[in-house]
Amino acid sequence: MVTEKKLFIKTWGCQMNVYDSNRMADILHPLGYRAVDTPDNADMVILNTCHIREKATDKVFSDLGRMREHKENRKAGGKKTLIAVAGCVAQAEGDVILDRAPYVDMVFGPQSYHTLPEMIIKATGERVINTDFPVESKFDSLPTDHASHKGPAAFLSIQEGCDKFCTFCVVPYTRGAEYSRPVAAIIEETKKLRDRGVVEIVLLGQNVNAYHGEGVKGLGGLIEAVAAVDGIERIRYMTSHPRDMDDELIAAHGDIPQLMPFLHLPVQSGSDEILKTMNRKHSADHFRDIIARVRKVRPDIALSSDFIVGFPGESEKHFEETLQLIRDVGFTASYSFKYSARPGTPAANMQGLVPEKAKDERVQVIQRLLYDQHEKFNKATVGKTLDVLFDGYGRSENQLHGRTPYNQAIHATTDLNNFGKIVKVEVSGATGSSLTGLVA
Ligand code: SF4
Repeated sequence: MVTEKKLFIKTWGCQMNVYDSNRMADILHPLGYRAVDTPDNADMVILNTCHIREKATDKVFSDLGRMREHKENRKAGGKKTLIAVAGCVAQAEGDVILDRAPYVDMVFGPQSYHTLPEMIIKATGERVINTDFPVESKFDSLPTDHASHKGPAAFLSIQEGCDKFCTFCVVPYTRGAEYSRPVAAIIEETKKLRDRGVVEIVLLGQNVNAYHGEGVKGLGGLIEAVAAVDGIERIRYMTSHPRDMDDELIAAHGDIPQLMPFLHLPVQSGSDEILKTMNRKHSADHFRDIIARVRKVRPDIALSSDFIVGFPGESEKHFEETLQLIRDVGFTASYSFKYSARPGTPAANMQGLVPEKAKDERVQVIQRLLYDQHEKFNKATVGKTLDVLFDGYGRSENQLHGRTPYNQAIHATTDLNNFGKIVKVEVSGATGSSLTGLVA
């Protein structure tokens, strides 16, 4: 009989990290660990970290300081607490963490968390660090069932790692080479999630559209296979690279009704010169062409992207080219960030650094433009009736939170029994970031 233990996982960064945290909870479930929302009385704390932005590492150490107090307080009461650091900061700076935080018991990367049961045993005697890139894929040893999953929508990792080596990015170094999971394993996991009430699957990968599992024609072919699973009503995918938007995937947006009319396609810059120094290996017009082809098969598609401002060498002219690309395309939800150098990336040694003041000014300009576009799109849906999947509880009683097919966040007053269902909702109000609605 396993004794029940409390597990607190804090997750930073991308959807892949969210997926990994869910899988860590699934691995620990048979050992009696049950996820809790605060570290207060947790027997184990896992900080699942992101290495993408400068402040990411600082945040980890300030959180670790709080976990240290928590551990000492429990020790004073005769209780043991395991502290672990996972994810991309663990992968990139594992030794630094062990040096700077002697109260940390385990440090492990994104490719080795499947060995958690063994690491816990080892950690009773010594401190553990595991930042290997094991030959066998972690996916082969992950539990097929998602014991800790709750809710009607689920992330499903189909591809991991990246071979693109954009000059600003740490992912190829922290997540390793591109790996595509076998189709059969993905379909089996889809069915397990479906059996737990999931109707929406979000296919994940650092470079999800580089998927090349055997037996299907790329991501488009895989989406077709997932759509054939009874009970799966909605499919989304992220995060993609413009160079891997192939004909099959674009056609899927026109042919497969379960594939939602939403595409997150990071472009980072609208300047060919900057795209070159970023090693993105495509032009701004190539991006415009992809958008035109997707819109041809799915005219109402909602578009999202990522933008970096202040990349080394970026002039006012380059920045204006990025703004022009945004005006030409029109986005419904996008993310924009000031460039911050990441240790170990080629861009970190580049000349022509953009002054912080100029970066601040540019990020304000781009966020203003993007917000106006998001608001315009959301306001255009007011009065329309959309199919909403309710996947969360709202801010007040009798209110649910959900997502439209265009991935817009929406709150609606409705019967709470509609949680987990796809319901027709009339949009009654909109801002740049969310909608309100009335159940039709
Ligand atoms: S494609 Fe994405 S994950 Fe890969 S190196 Fe470029 S930014 Fe990083």
